[in-house]
Amino acid sequence: MTDLRICHLYPEHLNIYADRGNIAVLRYRCERRDIAFAVRGCGPGDPLPEADLYYLGGGQDRDQVAVAGDLVARSGDLRAAVDGGAAVLAVCGGYQLLGHGYRGHAGDDMPGTGLVDLVTEAGPTRMIGNIAIRCELDPGRPRTVVGFENHAGRTHLGEGVEPLGQVLHGHGNNGADGGEGVRTGRVLGTYIHGPLLPKNPWLADWLVGASLERRHGTVALDPLDDALESEAHRVAERIAAAG
Ligand code: GLN
Repeated sequence: MTDLRICHLYPEHLNIYADRGNIAVLRYRCERRDIAFAVRGCGPGDPLPEADLYYLGGGQDRDQVAVAGDLVARSGDLRAAVDGGAAVLAVCGGYQLLGHGYRGHAGDDMPGTGLVDLVTEAGPTRMIGNIAIRCELDPGRPRTVVGFENHAGRTHLGEGVEPLGQVLHGHGNNGADGGEGVRTGRVLGTYIHGPLLPKNPWLADWLVGASLERRHGTVALDPLDDALESEAHRVAERIAAAG
């Protein structure tokens, strides 16, 4: 039977704005298709479970301080998992810690995994509001991602590193260069909450497909009735455009 295994990193610390809801969406979209779904949490000091998708949510600076050292100690294992085909989704505070490090608003220097080439430093104001971005994870198929952002961190990608998408409305990585998030292979980082996946079901399916590839190859995902999700997406996009 086809199955998907998720590791939720630091569920007690990195779960702001109901980011845990992303896992509920992945579960729903798998179970509707008879894909077995298993989630294992991993807190500081716990052994890192083997998984097809590693998930990190957002968090306040103090929660990021609490887990950054533990996460960095796992960098080698995470890198090996990604090299072995695992996918990663990291949101906001988790996204910041995927890079080389984050200097928080109180001046805390938090180390990052270095899994992706990016750095983040908190600025004097928070970047808050509804956001819409355009992305093209599959070449020739541009899509939009909608949601909500609230971060002090300004993220700058290294030379040649691709953002997840281009900001249509909102701030994105740093409010200046038009990029939002990061994408390298099956590793996605983003500032977008909402949570991210309920209003962006196409992205949830992209992640399910990318995560299944490691052990199951390309799995055709039957379409689901996304009328409600699509309507929520449309409304969120309209609100972001009006904001
Ligand atoms: N603490 C980080 C910041 O303010 C991340 C916030 C978040 O995850 N929403 O930039």
